[in-house]
Amino acid sequence: MDSRPVDQLVRLEAAPADSSQGASEDRASVGQALFGLDGEALAACMARAGEPAWRGRQLAEALYRQRISDVSAITTLPQALRQRLVGEGWQVGRPAITQVFQSQDGTERYLVRVGGADGAAQAGEPVWMPEGDDGEAGDGSDAEAAVKEYTRATICLSSQVGCAVNCHFCLTAKLGLQRNLTAGEIAGQVLEVFERQGVEVGRDRVNLVFMGMGEPFLNYANFMGAVRLLVREAGLSPQRMTVSTSGIVPGIEQFAAEPAELRPKLAISLNAPNDAIRGEIMPINHKWPIEAVMDAVRQVRLRPRERITFEYVLLGGVTDQPAHAAEVARLVRRTGLAAKVNLIAWNPGPGIAYATPRPEAVEAFRKTLADGGIPAYVRKPRGRDIYAACGQLKRTVEG
Ligand code: SF4
Repeated sequence: MDSRPVDQLVRLEAAPADSSQGASEDRASVGQALFGLDGEALAACMARAGEPAWRGRQLAEALYRQRISDVSAITTLPQALRQRLVGEGWQVGRPAITQVFQSQDGTERYLVRVGGADGAAQAGEPVWMPEGDDGEAGDGSDAEAAVKEYTRATICLSSQVGCAVNCHFCLTAKLGLQRNLTAGEIAGQVLEVFERQGVEVGRDRVNLVFMGMGEPFLNYANFMGAVRLLVREAGLSPQRMTVSTSGIVPGIEQFAAEPAELRPKLAISLNAPNDAIRGEIMPINHKWPIEAVMDAVRQVRLRPRERITFEYVLLGGVTDQPAHAAEVARLVRRTGLAAKVNLIAWNPGPGIAYATPRPEAVEAFRKTLADGGIPAYVRKPRGRDIYAACGQLKRTVEG
């Protein structure tokens, strides 16, 4: 593990990779943003401007498929209309990458600048993992041919700035909740990273995981708004997306009612074998204990080959004992769900007094689950040296 203190993190890059974005660090905070509106809203917007509604479709295509970040560059619109839109204060308004941190393992963590409620800049923190972290193993994702220099990549997304849930092992919790991200800000993180990495939708295999800063189900409308933009407007598959929740029961119930063509896969951040230990490390468990969470999860109608993922952060000496593994196997079997368990060795963070489990303990835990008939995978720690790994996201350098 790289144990450099936070203040020694190197600021590698201050400007966005795409020069067309260069003049617009503040593009999310000035004028009226088109980015974040869906095709229907863009059509209504055009109709109000006296234009035919199909201009809205052209705008959506430009914003979400061509990923154009400057209204003047939308050449499918007549020049006079572009000029008028700019004159009226319209801009694309996609949030911009302002800083990039690169890990020795190829992982990149970004600060994506979004406007703060008080006008101050705040940041979402998407993470690009060029080879994934094995979190998608065994959950029904199909395997596709390798393209580019990466065979498969994963982008981990924030849904809030900070988080209110207060899991005791998580660095993000130390921020508290600063604010919800909007649907456009969440989807914008994806398109920013796609631009930087030259991702071609429909060709490159990229998975999205809503597992970064924040609890997506405490920002449900914006989270699902982002999913709708990414699926309907940008053309991504919801089966390449996974949302992780700490167990917000009303959110899970709402999620279970989403149509299959829009619903991402579901992961539950379990982290403990029983309510007593879970309540100690995740206070949210006092509100929604394990059985209530499982009852809600059983309402999700899984697609063929789809599994529910249980994320399990192993805390050395606290949740990584052999008896815990046997109890988790029993618990998961009892749910009757098609499920798998992702094991994550706890990633250290400053000021958090837990220990990383020994590698032998992690392997023994995995084996106990597997022997008990529960598919179990160990997620590779990615980007620990840049505080990009699970539970480590926190704005460490101002955007
Ligand atoms: S683990 Fe997730 S839900 Fe818990 S405090 Fe951290 S960001 Fe919030």
